[in-house]
Amino acid sequence: MAASALFIHHPDNLKYFFGDTHPFNQKRLDLTISLLRAANALDVDDPTFHIPPAVDDELLASVHTQEYLSFVKALSEQTPDPTLLSQAGKYGLDDGDTPHFPGMHDVTRQVVGGSVSAVEAVMSGRTCHALHLGGGLHHAMANRAGGFCIYNDASVAISYARSRYKAKVLYVDTDVHHGDGVQMSFYTDPSVCTFSIHETGKYLFPGTGYAHERGEGEGFGTCFNMPVEPYTEDESWLECFTDMLFRIVDVFQPDLIISQHGCDAHAWDPLAHVHCSMDIYLQMPLLLQQAAERCSGRWVALGGGGYDIWRVVPRAWGLLWLVMSGHPLVGELLQHGNAPLPEAWLERWSPYSPSRLPTAWLDDKDALGSIPRREEIAIKNRQTKQLAMQFIE
Ligand SMILES: [Zn+2]
Repeated sequence: MAASALFIHHPDNLKYFFGDTHPFNQKRLDLTISLLRAANALDVDDPTFHIPPAVDDELLASVHTQEYLSFVKALSEQTPDPTLLSQAGKYGLDDGDTPHFPGMHDVTRQVVGGSVSAVEAVMSGRTCHALHLGGGLHHAMANRAGGFCIYNDASVAISYARSRYKAKVLYVDTDVHHGDGVQMSFYTDPSVCTFSIHETGKYLFPGTGYAHERGEGEGFGTCFNMPVEPYTEDESWLECFTDMLFRIVDVFQPDLIISQHGCDAHAWDPLAHVHCSMDIYLQMPLLLQQAAERCSGRWVALGGGGYDIWRVVPRAWGLLWLVMSGHPLVGELLQHGNAPLPEAWLERWSPYSPSRLPTAWLDDKDALGSIPRREEIAIKNRQTKQLAMQFIE
């Protein structure tokens, strides 16, 4: 095997851009790559750093309708036909969460290409682990954009693993928002199991992902949802995630795990209300790695949400790569409880960051504060977990 982990990145992913005032900001990709390079954990000239090709319309059509693809393409023109603009809302591409922009078809099929390349690299045996942080656009539906997502790269990558390799796929979504688009793509398919842990849809977009959503028809029992309470903290989040992940892996026995790594469950994320620290972003990839080792060892990880692009995302995504690539810093973090961030990275980016950058990989938990209803929240989450696992316990 040439490499144990592949880092997949195309610079054009930074063109997936909805404007300066929009919270989705792929500058976080540059910040993460810069952090990993400063930590001597990533070499962009090494074969383990891979620049992927875009996908063609045929692969996109494995998930999206022709009608939607044609509309997105037409709306991608520099000056779209005015009659199209009046229909943009029907496809989720008006001035709301996911505004259309010139070139969006080509930019987004490049994003999808990274996730498909990650699956190809792992399924062909080139590598065990592949990371594509530009991906994770989990809210896009077959015929509609939503939640900052135009095409669903995760669903297309899963479809590719099914059609090319007949792989049984477990999709694990750790974004604070429910992975609704991926769930819907495979809701009736027993060969794809989806597991999403997120803040309950009672209070947060997209308003779905309840424990009773379990799949339909032949797909019944291959969809799992763990909606956690607002203000859930590390211990309860990790308890629910660990118990469900290992049980699902043992029962489903996937050939491939594809995980989504929105890091918006952190206490500092401005778009949600879960109160976790950086600890879950160290423990969760370690758990996913163990889960992968319990079946095939094949693991693809994607990016996702994450809106504190300075203090949270680079560290969370950096930790993910450190685990996937087996970097010695992981052992140091586990042994000593923390490690400083590279001085060079802090010096380079501090002048631009609107808030003071943390100086260590993991958080000072005292600074995050504690939630007074901690026990009550943990009990409620445990009850929800039992409901979600009702048929596999
Ligand atoms: Zn999210």
